[in-house]
Amino acid sequence: MRAAVVAAPGGDVTVVDDVEVDEPRAGEALVAVDAAGVCGTDRSLQSGAMAYPMPLLLGHEATGRIVALGDGPGDAAGTAGAAGGAGGAVAVGDRVVLWMRPPCRACRMCVRGQGELCERSGVMSARGTLLDGRTGLRRGGEPLYRALGIGAFAERVVMPVGGLVAVPDDVPPAVAALLGCGVATGAGAVLNVARPAVGDVVVVFGGGGVGQAAALVAAAVGAGAVVVVDPVAERRDAALALGATAALAGGDARAVRGQLAEALGEAVVDVAIDAVGRPELVALGHRLVRQGGTVVAVGVPAADATVTLPGPLLTLSHKRVLGCFMGGIDPHRDLPRLFALYRRGALPIDRLVSAHRPLAEAPDALADLAAGRGVRTVLDIA
Ligand SMILES: [Zn+2]
Ligand SMILES: [Zn+2]
Repeated sequence: MRAAVVAAPGGDVTVVDDVEVDEPRAGEALVAVDAAGVCGTDRSLQSGAMAYPMPLLLGHEATGRIVALGDGPGDAAGTAGAAGGAGGAVAVGDRVVLWMRPPCRACRMCVRGQGELCERSGVMSARGTLLDGRTGLRRGGEPLYRALGIGAFAERVVMPVGGLVAVPDDVPPAVAALLGCGVATGAGAVLNVARPAVGDVVVVFGGGGVGQAAALVAAAVGAGAVVVVDPVAERRDAALALGATAALAGGDARAVRGQLAEALGEAVVDVAIDAVGRPELVALGHRLVRQGGTVVAVGVPAADATVTLPGPLLTLSHKRVLGCFMGGIDPHRDLPRLFALYRRGALPIDRLVSAHRPLAEAPDALADLAAGRGVRTVLDIA
Protein backbone atom coordinates (compact mmCIF):
# COMPACT_ATOMS: atom_id res chain seq x y z
CA MET A 1 0.00 0.00 0.00
CA ARG A 2 0.96 3.66 -0.25
CA ALA A 3 2.15 5.42 2.87
CA ALA A 4 4.23 8.38 4.08
CA VAL A 5 7.34 7.18 5.89
CA VAL A 6 10.50 8.57 7.44
CA ALA A 7 13.62 6.40 7.61
CA ALA A 8 15.56 8.07 10.44
CA PRO A 9 15.19 11.02 12.85
CA GLY A 10 15.41 14.26 10.87
CA GLY A 11 15.11 12.41 7.57
CA ASP A 12 12.90 13.38 4.65
CA VAL A 13 9.27 12.30 4.52
CA THR A 14 8.74 10.12 1.47
CA VAL A 15 5.56 8.66 0.05
CA VAL A 16 6.16 5.08 -1.02
CA ASP A 17 3.94 2.33 -2.42
CA ASP A 18 5.56 -0.84 -1.11
CA VAL A 19 4.39 -1.06 2.51
CA GLU A 20 2.87 -4.38 3.58
CA VAL A 21 0.14 -4.40 6.22
CA ASP A 22 -0.94 -7.41 8.32
CA GLU A 23 -4.39 -8.94 8.30
CA PRO A 24 -6.21 -8.04 11.55
CA ARG A 25 -5.85 -10.56 14.40
CA ALA A 26 -8.35 -11.32 17.17
CA GLY A 27 -9.64 -8.08 18.70
CA GLU A 28 -8.34 -5.99 15.79
CA ALA A 29 -9.86 -4.35 12.74
CA LEU A 30 -8.46 -3.40 9.33
CA VAL A 31 -9.47 0.17 8.54
CA ALA A 32 -9.34 1.89 5.13
CA VAL A 33 -8.18 5.42 5.95
CA ASP A 34 -10.39 8.20 4.55
CA ALA A 35 -8.66 11.27 5.93
CA ALA A 36 -5.83 12.16 8.30
CA GLY A 37 -4.92 15.46 9.97
CA VAL A 38 -1.32 16.62 10.08
CA CYS A 39 -0.53 17.25 13.75
CA GLY A 40 2.44 18.94 15.40
CA THR A 41 3.48 15.63 16.91
CA ASP A 42 4.02 14.19 13.41
CA ARG A 43 6.52 16.97 12.85
CA SER A 44 8.20 16.28 16.23
CA LEU A 45 8.49 12.58 15.34
CA GLN A 46 9.89 13.31 11.89
CA SER A 47 12.40 15.91 13.08
CA GLY A 48 13.65 13.73 15.92
CA ALA A 49 12.60 16.31 18.56
CA MET A 50 10.60 13.43 20.03
CA ALA A 51 12.73 10.28 20.28
CA TYR A 52 10.90 7.37 18.64
CA PRO A 53 11.56 4.01 16.98
CA MET A 54 12.42 4.25 13.27
CA PRO A 55 11.72 3.68 10.41
CA LEU A 56 8.31 5.14 10.97
CA LEU A 57 4.98 5.40 9.19
CA LEU A 58 3.67 8.88 10.12
CA GLY A 59 0.12 9.99 10.98
CA HIS A 60 -2.07 9.42 14.02
CA GLU A 61 -5.09 11.74 13.70
CA ALA A 62 -7.43 9.91 11.36
CA THR A 63 -10.72 8.42 10.35
CA GLY A 64 -11.71 5.59 8.02
CA ARG A 65 -14.01 2.65 7.35
CA ILE A 66 -13.72 -0.83 8.82
CA VAL A 67 -13.05 -3.27 5.99
CA ALA A 68 -12.34 -6.41 8.05
CA LEU A 69 -12.46 -7.66 11.63
CA GLY A 70 -10.08 -10.26 13.07
CA ASP A 71 -11.54 -13.55 14.27
CA GLY A 72 -12.17 -13.93 18.00
CA PRO A 73 -12.49 -11.58 20.92
CA GLY A 74 -8.82 -10.73 21.52
CA ASP A 75 -7.68 -9.21 24.79
CA ALA A 76 -9.58 -6.71 26.92
CA ALA A 77 -7.99 -3.56 25.49
CA GLY A 78 -8.70 -4.81 22.00
CA THR A 79 -12.36 -5.44 22.56
CA ALA A 80 -13.61 -2.83 25.03
CA GLY A 81 -15.43 -0.97 22.27
CA ALA A 82 -16.85 -4.05 20.62
CA ALA A 83 -17.98 -5.46 23.95
CA GLY A 84 -20.37 -2.58 24.39
CA GLY A 85 -18.28 0.04 26.15
CA ALA A 86 -19.89 3.45 26.08
CA GLY A 87 -18.92 3.76 22.42
CA GLY A 88 -20.97 0.72 21.42
CA ALA A 89 -20.08 -2.06 19.03
CA VAL A 90 -18.47 -1.46 15.67
CA ALA A 91 -18.93 -3.57 12.53
CA VAL A 92 -17.52 -3.95 9.02
CA GLY A 93 -18.56 -0.91 6.99
CA ASP A 94 -18.73 1.46 9.97
CA ARG A 95 -16.96 4.80 9.77
CA VAL A 96 -14.71 5.26 12.77
CA VAL A 97 -12.27 7.64 14.47
CA LEU A 98 -8.94 6.01 15.40
CA TRP A 99 -7.83 6.53 19.01
CA MET A 100 -4.24 5.88 20.11
CA ARG A 101 -5.03 4.88 23.71
CA PRO A 102 -7.89 2.37 23.67
CA PRO A 103 -9.07 2.00 27.29
CA CYS A 104 -8.95 -1.65 28.40
CA ARG A 105 -11.77 -1.08 30.96
CA ALA A 106 -10.00 -3.53 33.30
CA CYS A 107 -6.81 -1.92 34.65
CA ARG A 108 -6.58 0.16 37.84
CA MET A 109 -6.98 3.50 36.03
CA CYS A 110 -9.84 2.32 33.81
CA VAL A 111 -11.68 0.92 36.83
CA ARG A 112 -11.26 4.31 38.55
CA GLY A 113 -13.05 5.90 35.59
CA GLN A 114 -9.87 7.35 34.11
CA GLY A 115 -9.70 5.42 30.86
CA GLU A 116 -7.58 8.22 29.39
CA LEU A 117 -4.75 6.97 31.61
CA CYS A 118 -5.24 3.27 30.82
CA GLU A 119 -2.16 1.42 32.07
CA ARG A 120 -2.18 -1.11 29.26
CA SER A 121 -2.81 0.93 26.12
CA GLY A 122 0.01 3.47 26.64
CA VAL A 123 2.36 0.85 25.22
CA MET A 124 0.97 1.51 21.73
CA SER A 125 1.77 5.19 21.55
CA ALA A 126 4.99 4.86 23.55
CA ARG A 127 6.55 2.11 21.46
CA GLY A 128 4.97 2.59 18.05
CA THR A 129 3.40 -0.84 18.01
CA LEU A 130 0.07 -2.61 18.43
CA LEU A 131 -0.96 -3.90 21.88
CA ASP A 132 0.81 -7.24 21.35
CA GLY A 133 4.12 -5.53 20.50
CA ARG A 134 4.15 -6.20 16.76
CA THR A 135 3.88 -3.29 14.34
CA GLY A 136 1.77 -5.08 11.73
CA LEU A 137 3.73 -3.21 9.05
CA ARG A 138 6.74 -4.14 6.93
CA ARG A 139 8.73 -2.54 4.15
CA GLY A 140 11.54 -4.33 2.35
CA GLY A 141 11.26 -7.16 4.87
CA GLU A 142 11.89 -4.84 7.86
CA PRO A 143 9.29 -3.79 10.44
CA LEU A 144 7.96 -0.26 10.13
CA TYR A 145 6.86 1.45 13.34
CA ARG A 146 3.49 3.15 13.80
CA ALA A 147 3.43 6.88 14.70
CA LEU A 148 1.98 7.05 18.24
CA GLY A 149 0.81 3.47 17.79
CA ILE A 150 -1.26 4.24 14.68
CA GLY A 151 0.53 5.19 11.42
CA ALA A 152 -2.36 6.70 9.48
CA PHE A 153 -0.68 8.44 6.53
CA ALA A 154 -1.48 5.23 4.69
CA GLU A 155 -4.24 3.55 2.74
CA ARG A 156 -4.85 0.94 5.45
CA VAL A 157 -4.21 0.61 9.17
CA VAL A 158 -4.75 -2.25 11.64
CA MET A 159 -6.25 -1.05 14.94
CA PRO A 160 -7.42 -2.60 18.23
CA VAL A 161 -11.21 -2.56 18.09
CA GLY A 162 -11.26 -0.73 21.45
CA GLY A 163 -9.48 2.17 19.76
CA LEU A 164 -12.32 2.74 17.29
CA VAL A 165 -15.28 5.06 17.89
CA ALA A 166 -18.19 5.04 15.42
CA VAL A 167 -18.80 8.28 13.50
CA PRO A 168 -22.35 9.58 12.86
CA ASP A 169 -23.29 9.60 9.15
CA ASP A 170 -23.57 13.38 8.93
CA VAL A 171 -20.08 14.10 10.30
CA PRO A 172 -17.65 14.60 7.36
CA PRO A 173 -14.30 12.77 7.25
CA ALA A 174 -12.16 15.88 7.85
CA VAL A 175 -14.10 16.65 11.02
CA ALA A 176 -13.89 13.08 12.27
CA ALA A 177 -10.15 12.97 11.55
CA LEU A 178 -9.43 16.08 13.61
CA LEU A 179 -11.28 14.52 16.54
CA GLY A 180 -8.61 11.80 16.58
CA CYS A 181 -6.03 14.02 18.28
CA GLY A 182 -5.69 17.79 18.10
CA VAL A 183 -9.28 18.95 18.37
CA ALA A 184 -10.12 16.36 21.01
CA THR A 185 -7.02 17.37 22.98
CA GLY A 186 -7.92 21.05 22.95
CA ALA A 187 -11.58 20.38 23.62
CA GLY A 188 -10.81 17.97 26.45
CA ALA A 189 -8.41 20.44 28.08
CA VAL A 190 -11.43 22.71 28.54
CA LEU A 191 -14.18 20.14 29.21
CA ASN A 192 -12.24 17.73 31.42
CA VAL A 193 -9.47 19.76 33.06
CA ALA A 194 -9.86 23.57 32.97
CA ARG A 195 -13.63 23.39 33.45
CA PRO A 196 -14.23 27.16 33.22
CA ALA A 197 -17.31 28.60 34.88
CA VAL A 198 -19.87 30.48 32.79
CA GLY A 199 -18.57 34.01 32.29
CA ASP A 200 -14.89 33.19 32.89
CA VAL A 201 -12.14 34.84 30.85
CA VAL A 202 -10.15 32.10 29.11
CA VAL A 203 -6.76 32.81 27.50
CA VAL A 204 -5.33 30.21 25.11
CA PHE A 205 -1.68 30.35 24.09
CA GLY A 206 -1.27 28.96 20.58
CA GLY A 207 -3.55 29.27 17.54
CA GLY A 208 -2.86 25.88 15.96
CA GLY A 209 -5.42 23.10 15.87
CA VAL A 210 -5.27 22.34 19.61
CA GLY A 211 -5.50 25.96 20.72
CA GLN A 212 -8.28 26.92 18.31
CA ALA A 213 -10.30 23.88 19.43
CA ALA A 214 -9.83 24.85 23.08
CA ALA A 215 -11.04 28.37 22.25
CA LEU A 216 -14.10 27.06 20.39
CA VAL A 217 -15.09 24.78 23.25
CA ALA A 218 -14.50 27.48 25.88
CA ALA A 219 -16.93 29.67 23.93
CA ALA A 220 -19.38 26.76 23.57
CA VAL A 221 -19.49 26.18 27.33
CA GLY A 222 -20.18 29.82 28.12
CA ALA A 223 -16.87 31.60 28.71
CA GLY A 224 -17.34 35.36 29.10
CA ALA A 225 -14.37 36.09 26.85
CA VAL A 226 -12.04 33.84 24.86
CA VAL A 227 -8.63 35.24 23.95
CA VAL A 228 -6.15 33.50 21.63
CA VAL A 229 -2.49 34.55 21.87
CA ASP A 230 -0.23 33.74 18.91
CA PRO A 231 2.65 35.64 17.27
CA VAL A 232 1.49 34.54 13.78
CA ALA A 233 -0.98 37.08 12.33
CA GLU A 234 -2.70 34.47 10.12
CA ARG A 235 -3.55 32.41 13.20
CA ARG A 236 -4.86 35.45 15.06
CA ASP A 237 -7.09 36.23 12.06
CA ALA A 238 -8.31 32.62 12.11
CA ALA A 239 -9.12 32.87 15.82
CA LEU A 240 -11.18 36.03 15.30
CA ALA A 241 -12.97 34.48 12.31
CA LEU A 242 -13.84 31.48 14.52
CA GLY A 243 -15.37 33.75 17.14
CA ALA A 244 -12.63 34.53 19.65
CA THR A 245 -13.31 37.72 21.60
CA ALA A 246 -9.77 38.92 20.97
CA ALA A 247 -6.51 37.69 19.43
CA LEU A 248 -3.23 39.02 20.79
CA ALA A 249 0.36 38.93 19.56
CA GLY A 250 1.65 38.17 23.07
CA GLY A 251 4.99 38.87 24.70
CA ASP A 252 5.96 39.08 28.38
CA ALA A 253 3.42 39.38 31.19
CA ARG A 254 3.44 43.15 31.09
CA ALA A 255 2.86 43.21 27.32
CA VAL A 256 0.05 40.65 27.47
CA ARG A 257 -1.64 42.49 30.34
CA GLY A 258 -1.54 45.67 28.27
CA GLN A 259 -2.98 43.91 25.23
CA LEU A 260 -5.70 42.31 27.39
CA ALA A 261 -6.65 45.62 28.98
CA GLU A 262 -6.90 47.22 25.56
CA ALA A 263 -9.00 44.40 24.14
CA LEU A 264 -11.29 43.64 27.11
CA GLY A 265 -11.16 46.78 29.24
CA GLU A 266 -9.41 44.92 32.06
CA ALA A 267 -6.78 42.22 32.39
CA VAL A 268 -8.44 39.73 34.74
CA VAL A 269 -7.87 36.14 33.56
CA ASP A 270 -9.58 33.12 35.12
CA VAL A 271 -8.11 30.32 33.00
CA ALA A 272 -4.89 30.13 30.93
CA ILE A 273 -4.17 27.20 28.64
CA ASP A 274 -0.75 26.50 27.07
CA ALA A 275 -1.51 24.75 23.79
CA VAL A 276 2.02 25.26 22.48
CA GLY A 277 4.16 23.29 24.92
CA ARG A 278 6.63 25.96 26.03
CA PRO A 279 7.54 26.17 29.73
CA GLU A 280 7.65 29.97 29.65
CA LEU A 281 4.01 30.03 28.55
CA VAL A 282 2.98 27.94 31.57
CA ALA A 283 4.90 30.39 33.78
CA LEU A 284 3.31 33.32 31.94
CA GLY A 285 -0.13 31.80 32.42
CA HIS A 286 0.61 31.43 36.13
CA ARG A 287 1.49 35.13 36.34
CA LEU A 288 -1.57 36.21 34.36
CA VAL A 289 -4.41 34.30 36.03
CA ARG A 290 -6.15 35.83 39.04
CA GLN A 291 -5.75 34.40 42.56
CA GLY A 292 -7.28 30.95 42.57
CA GLY A 293 -7.24 30.83 38.78
CA THR A 294 -6.36 27.78 36.69
CA VAL A 295 -3.41 27.08 34.38
CA VAL A 296 -3.55 24.04 32.11
CA ALA A 297 -0.47 22.64 30.34
CA VAL A 298 -1.71 20.72 27.29
CA GLY A 299 1.13 21.28 24.80
CA VAL A 300 4.09 18.92 25.23
CA PRO A 301 7.41 20.70 25.93
CA ALA A 302 10.80 19.51 24.70
CA ALA A 303 12.25 16.51 26.55
CA ASP A 304 14.73 18.60 28.58
CA ALA A 305 12.37 21.52 29.37
CA THR A 306 11.68 22.66 32.93
CA VAL A 307 8.79 24.81 34.10
CA THR A 308 9.86 27.43 36.67
CA LEU A 309 7.25 28.99 38.96
CA PRO A 310 7.68 31.50 41.81
CA GLY A 311 7.79 29.41 44.99
CA PRO A 312 5.88 31.57 47.47
CA LEU A 313 3.19 32.47 44.96
CA LEU A 314 2.65 28.84 44.06
CA THR A 315 1.24 28.45 47.57
CA LEU A 316 -0.01 31.92 48.44
CA SER A 317 -1.82 32.64 45.18
CA HIS A 318 -3.88 29.45 45.44
CA LYS A 319 -3.57 29.09 41.67
CA ARG A 320 -3.91 25.61 40.23
CA VAL A 321 -1.40 24.37 37.64
CA LEU A 322 -2.73 21.26 35.94
CA GLY A 323 -1.14 18.83 33.51
CA CYS A 324 -3.42 17.53 30.81
CA PHE A 325 -2.50 14.59 28.60
CA MET A 326 -4.52 14.37 25.38
CA GLY A 327 -7.33 16.40 26.90
CA GLY A 328 -8.07 13.72 29.49
CA ILE A 329 -10.22 12.22 26.74
CA ASP A 330 -11.91 8.88 27.20
CA PRO A 331 -12.81 8.29 23.56
CA HIS A 332 -16.03 6.36 24.13
CA ARG A 333 -17.27 8.92 26.67
CA ASP A 334 -16.08 12.14 25.07
CA LEU A 335 -16.03 11.79 21.27
CA PRO A 336 -19.84 11.37 21.15
CA ARG A 337 -20.13 14.60 23.19
CA LEU A 338 -17.93 16.40 20.67
CA PHE A 339 -19.88 14.96 17.71
CA ALA A 340 -23.02 16.35 19.38
CA LEU A 341 -21.47 19.82 19.80
CA TYR A 342 -20.38 19.76 16.14
CA ARG A 343 -23.83 18.67 14.92
CA ARG A 344 -25.58 21.52 16.69
CA GLY A 345 -23.11 24.05 15.29
CA ALA A 346 -21.32 24.85 18.54
CA LEU A 347 -18.01 23.31 17.46
CA PRO A 348 -17.33 24.22 13.79
CA ILE A 349 -14.35 21.89 13.46
CA ASP A 350 -14.58 22.03 9.66
CA ARG A 351 -13.45 25.66 9.85
CA LEU A 352 -10.16 24.63 11.47
CA VAL A 353 -9.17 22.89 8.22
CA SER A 354 -6.98 25.35 6.33
CA ALA A 355 -5.92 23.01 3.50
CA HIS A 356 -6.73 19.64 1.93
CA ARG A 357 -3.96 17.73 0.18
CA PRO A 358 -3.60 14.23 -1.32
CA LEU A 359 -1.41 11.66 0.47
CA ALA A 360 1.33 12.30 -2.11
CA GLU A 361 1.72 15.82 -0.69
CA ALA A 362 2.30 14.71 2.91
CA PRO A 363 5.87 16.13 2.79
CA ASP A 364 4.49 19.56 1.74
CA ALA A 365 1.89 19.43 4.52
CA LEU A 366 4.62 18.80 7.10
CA ALA A 367 6.68 21.65 5.65
CA ASP A 368 3.65 23.96 6.04
CA LEU A 369 3.32 22.84 9.64
CA ALA A 370 7.00 23.47 10.36
CA ALA A 371 6.64 26.99 8.92
CA GLY A 372 3.47 27.74 10.92
CA ARG A 373 1.37 28.09 7.75
CA GLY A 374 -2.37 27.46 8.22
CA VAL A 375 -4.17 25.86 11.17
CA ARG A 376 -4.69 22.26 10.10
CA THR A 377 -3.99 20.38 6.86
CA VAL A 378 -6.07 17.28 6.15
CA LEU A 379 -4.73 14.58 3.86
CA ASP A 380 -7.57 13.11 1.78
CA ILE A 381 -6.56 9.47 1.38
CA ALA A 382 -9.63 7.46 0.28
ZN1 LIG B 1 -1.56 14.65 17.39
ZN1 LIG C 1 -7.04 0.23 31.19
